[in-house]
This record gives sequence, structure tokens and C-alpha cells, in this order.
Amino acid sequence: MSLVLPVISTDTDSHSSESSHSGTSTSCGGSSEAGFAPSRRLPAWLRRDLPTGNFNNFTAGLLDELRLETVCDNAKCPNRMECYSQKTATFMILGNVCTRPCGFCAVSRGKPDALEADEPARVAEAALRLGLKHVVITSVTRDDLPDGGGEHFYDSVMAVRAKTSATIEVLTPDFIQHKHGLDRVVEAAPEVFNHNMETVPRLYRKVRGPKSDYSWTLELLSRVKRLNANIKTKSGLMLGLGETRDELLQCLSDLRSYDCDFLTLGQYLQPGQRYLPVQRYVPPEEFEELGEIAQQMGFEKVASGPFVRSSYHAREMAL
Ligand code: SF4
Repeated sequence: MSLVLPVISTDTDSHSSESSHSGTSTSCGGSSEAGFAPSRRLPAWLRRDLPTGNFNNFTAGLLDELRLETVCDNAKCPNRMECYSQKTATFMILGNVCTRPCGFCAVSRGKPDALEADEPARVAEAALRLGLKHVVITSVTRDDLPDGGGEHFYDSVMAVRAKTSATIEVLTPDFIQHKHGLDRVVEAAPEVFNHNMETVPRLYRKVRGPKSDYSWTLELLSRVKRLNANIKTKSGLMLGLGETRDELLQCLSDLRSYDCDFLTLGQYLQPGQRYLPVQRYVPPEEFEELGEIAQQMGFEKVASGPFVRSSYHAREMAL
């Protein structure tokens, strides 16, 4: 079964844009990366109308009141206005400072603050008051913590479950040095466990930093399944970072061979000047074609489109 998401809105033709945790977007082009000059002008399909509705302020105000971070804000997600106006958001726990230097992500990096013990309760309160039926929880990477933040993830999932009947999706960092932390997140038994592949192995270190490891990404997804076969696993890639079509298709094949259930493909957008440039804007029809190929490979659900991010319309995918 597939999930076809519409191409929606862009209110600007500046290159503000998006990022990582939440999203995936990029281009994968023909059979070679050569020949695609970096572009600063957004193509027409990436320009969108502002969403209507008056819940945007409600969502932003509630998040402010409860002192919660979202990846929507921190990663400058291009879907923020749309999602907030629909009273949805992706909670970002463990602070708003990341310990990894990913080249595509707008979240602040540096030395994080101490954990806030009441954050899981505040996430649960926000989920309740927003009336969320599907709650997505992500985080910065916390290499500084002994468990990478696994216990805090566990507490957050359990707090939301105690307070709402929502299904729960986690979108986690790689826990590469803290595998016991990963196992603790799995113990919380979220309905969906998402860890993004982000890009092809040749670009891994450039895009995801020196600690990243393609084979571990696959092993992480496999480990989740081994620990709890009832959890749906999910991953996503950004297109437009210089990957080739063959490289991309190999990644999708690898994900399937590790039993990944859900897939997101979206356009990478450069969040600011100091981040990796876009190598190519992938046309919507190419996203559609890639989505069809992914379905034929056996992914249970696929979302593929320029504005697709890992948490974009996550509820529809999780149902
Ligand atoms: S797509 Fe995800 S990260 Fe972006 S605004 Fe929507 S919920 Fe937030």
C-alpha cells in the first residue's frame, strides 16, 4: 500500500528551507551526479501558497507555554506553517543543541544543556491539548549522555501513552556509541521506529559527519525488528545532495533487505549559506516514479515528493 502525498506550498522563493530530522528531500537524478550545477533559485514546484486556518498561532502558543522544542522550528522545516495550522508538530526532546556537525541540518550544534526531567510530561500535555492521534518524537543527537538519551526517549513515549491514546512514532539519532540506549527506546514499544538513512553511503560522512556509518544505519533498523517484530520501521532519504539514481536505488534495496517497512523521499533544501548546497532539484514526476519503484520493491508505505519529510503526514503512513 502506498501513500502519495501532494506537493504543497511554498511561500517564498528564498532558500529558507528545511532539514533533516524531519525531512527528506532531494534529488536523485539520472544515472550520474555529474552535470547538475548547484542552484539557488527554487523551481516553480517548490513555491507554495500559505496555508489557511487559524490554528498556527494556537500551536505555536501552546509549544511556547509548555517550553517545548520542535524540529519544525529548529530545522526550519518548509512545512511548518501547514503542519502547525493543522495542529500537528514533531516534538524535539533532549534540548535544542546537537552534538553532531551534520552538513544539511539547521539545528544548533555545540555543548547541550542539562536534561529537563519534566520534559516528557510536558510533551504528553501538549499531545493531549493538541488532540494528536499520532505523536512524533525526535531529538538532537546527544553523544555526551551515557545512554545517548535513550531513557529520556523511553520516558517520553511512556508519558504520552499514559496521557493519550495516540499512536507514537520515534525518529531517533543513531545511538552508534550507545546501543543500550537504542534498546531502551525499543522497550517503550512505539508503533513506528524511524531512523533516517538521509543519503547514499558515498556521501555519508560529508552529509552526516565523521561518526556516521551507513552499515550501522541498516543494522539499527534490523536490531529494532529483532527486538520487537511488531514495531514498524521507517527510514528516509533526502534527494538532491549529489547522489546518483543507481546509488539511491541500491539504498532502497538495502533498506528492504533489512525489512524496513516505510519509506520517505523528499527534496533536500539548503537551510542557510553555511550548509551543503543543493546539487539538483528533483521534479515531482521523478519523485512519483521513484515512489512507484519503491512500492514495487516491497515497502509497505511510501511517501515521495518534494516536500515530504520524515514526519510529514506521518499519521497517514502509520495508520
Ligand atoms: S513536516 Fe514534520 S518537521 Fe516539518 S513542520 Fe511538519 S511535523 Fe514539523
